[in-house]
Amino acid sequence: MPLVPLRPLLEASLQHGFAHGAFNVNAVAQAQAVIEVHEQFRSAAILQGADLANAFMGGRADFLNGTLEDKRRGAQRIAAAVRKFGADSPVPVVLHLDHGKDFESVKVAIDNGYTSVMIDGSHLPFAENVELTRAVVQYAHPLGVTVEGELGVLAGVEDDVFAEHSTYTNPMTVCEFFKKTGVDCLAISYGTKHGAVKGEHVKLRKEIAIAAMENLRHEGIFGVLVSHGSSTVPQYIVAELNQLGGKVSGAHGIPIAELRAVIPYGVGKINVDTDIRLAVTRNIREYFANHPAQRASQSIGPVWELMEQKPEQFDPRVYLPPVMEPLITGAAITDPDLLDLVGCIKRGVHEVVGTLIVQFGSVGFASRVEQVSLEAMAKRYRNAARPR
Ligand SMILES: [Zn+2]
Repeated sequence: MPLVPLRPLLEASLQHGFAHGAFNVNAVAQAQAVIEVHEQFRSAAILQGADLANAFMGGRADFLNGTLEDKRRGAQRIAAAVRKFGADSPVPVVLHLDHGKDFESVKVAIDNGYTSVMIDGSHLPFAENVELTRAVVQYAHPLGVTVEGELGVLAGVEDDVFAEHSTYTNPMTVCEFFKKTGVDCLAISYGTKHGAVKGEHVKLRKEIAIAAMENLRHEGIFGVLVSHGSSTVPQYIVAELNQLGGKVSGAHGIPIAELRAVIPYGVGKINVDTDIRLAVTRNIREYFANHPAQRASQSIGPVWELMEQKPEQFDPRVYLPPVMEPLITGAAITDPDLLDLVGCIKRGVHEVVGTLIVQFGSVGFASRVEQVSLEAMAKRYRNAARPR
């Protein structure tokens, strides 16, 4: 089946009280692995391309400097990869843009096959955030594409999304935001944090989600909350990675119990990126430890060199540039050494994504997610005549 919009997944999660994980992908094999593991657990899948991941997929190793053209090429590649593995999948598959930073980036993603987009206007004053988000909704909904907004600011680093301090979402303004913009879901700031250093024993401000959802229900407005910066940073993976020569320090995630506790209150989408990066990096370190001769491999030896130079780094985009071409284009790989690395990437995805599908409760719910095409969804938005 073709890729579906996010909206029917949001509806299923709200109705049945579970959450979908949303997983960032930066390589074709990673997209394939994310879809495979959702198929195994019979869960609908949300794959996310971040704005700058699109730049990386567009061929920019220095993705922080990516241009709109790089992002366009990257968006096309990732959409092609997700379509390739998602089109014939027995589970619904969504391709979502994470942290779209302006109208143009969002438009590029939609025009190139994304079925859901986030517009992050959280750094703007409320009225300007509403204006930007509303413009995106007005472009996206007539095409059936789902829109996620953000209110409140998360602390931490995620590509070029950076904030020193968090500002919690004011639940009193959530209703107004949904009403004025027409978004389908909303990222809130309630104690999660971008990046791997979230602090130990984080407690989430559940009451923010509870109050926001209660306000929405009272007004009869559909809306689902989204939890960003929610990697769990499995401590066994960090420990193994460091035993294998990594130097990742102070890495702590959101306890799974905290995430599970907010799911019944309308948090239906939980974003995870760091966990995958950690598992992939551990696997590649383990591979070079077990096969030391491969450190001199013509094709993948340079990857090991970069890992050695930057032991504190666990973002694969830092050490994969020497082999990035086939990883981002999806060209057939015949080099056996590179195939081994692809295996490391895929196993890392299976391990952490599988765990979270189980923990977030989306196992077995694929069949409860309505198969709605973008066209049918567009028609529903047209007919809804929502109050604005
Ligand atoms: Zn985020």
